Amino acid sequence: MDGSTRSIRGRIRFRLLKLIKPKCPFCGSDRTCSIFYGYPGDIEWYLEAVAKGEIIDGGDIIGDNDPAWYCHECKNNWGKRNETS
Ligand SMILES: [Zn+2]
Repeated sequence: MDGSTRSIRGRIRFRLLKLIKPKCPFCGSDRTCSIFYGYPGDIEWYLEAVAKGEIIDGGDIIGDNDPAWYCHECKNNWGKRNETS
């Protein structure tokens, strides 16, 4: 796979993530975003999305109990990572 193919796949994945926005189960806010784990295919797009608060960087290390969602309002996170992939 070359670099451009990876980049396109990264964009598609981010678009999908941005469409899914559950309400926060703690405070009811819809200022939520998904937490991204691993290495993004398109780093520029990724950093822009992080800067806008559309996604949160979950880091490269993936564990068994990683949360899937983050709330900007109350700073809680919840869910399971597997639900977003
Ligand atoms: Zn909340």
